[in-house]
Amino acid sequence: NPLQGASFVLAAHRIDQLPADSGGEVAFAGRSNAGKSSALNKLTGHHGLARTSKTPGRTQQMVAFALPPLAQGEGMPPLDVRLIDLPGYGYAKVPEPLREHWKREIDAYLHQRRSLRGVVLIVDIRHPLKEFDRMMLAFCQDTALPCHVLLTKADKLSRNQSAQALAAMRKQFAAEGLLATAQVFSSAEGTGVDEAREAVVALLRR
Ligand code: GDP
Repeated sequence: NPLQGASFVLAAHRIDQLPADSGGEVAFAGRSNAGKSSALNKLTGHHGLARTSKTPGRTQQMVAFALPPLAQGEGMPPLDVRLIDLPGYGYAKVPEPLREHWKREIDAYLHQRRSLRGVVLIVDIRHPLKEFDRMMLAFCQDTALPCHVLLTKADKLSRNQSAQALAAMRKQFAAEGLLATAQVFSSAEGTGVDEAREAVVALLRR
């Protein structure tokens, strides 16, 4: 597993508290309860890395996780890489001023962070794109950042239904001219885990 060995670095309320803006990083975003923490834990193979089933309304933060440096080509130094867990909202009731704070921080982060290589957006496969997801896709489009969508909790649907949901999402991206990619995923059953790890590494190397 190329994402093995992730470790907690720090939690931040503002982007200026994040680790030095060097090397490469991939941000994970998703509405609260979409399954982002479970996906991070599954992908890194570190069960307790991100806290799952958080209490709705608890203080939200951006969390940085360091990955082991990625080997690069001959004569090149290894690349320092990180994953950033962005706060999600949309499901639990988050007070309006806090939503506005995070919307601004996420917007600034996506626009200013030079080491950011791409975004992994976690979406519950049973729910169509919601306001938060559309905002993330629009920010990525604005900043020309690749966005890879994990349609998670696929174990809640039949294989056929999952394939249909994936096809519908790809069709929607094409119709709206979005450069995003998507795949089926399940933290519970391990569906799509290898594909998602490869997508994250490809973004980090970009
Ligand atoms: P977060 O708020 O986006 O970080 O979501 P969590 O990872 O904490 O998951 C929210 C809830 O969905 C928890 O009850 C998880 O057990 C559940 N969950 C997460 N991923 C999956 C999945 O792939 N399949 C199923 N069936 N449940 C999941």
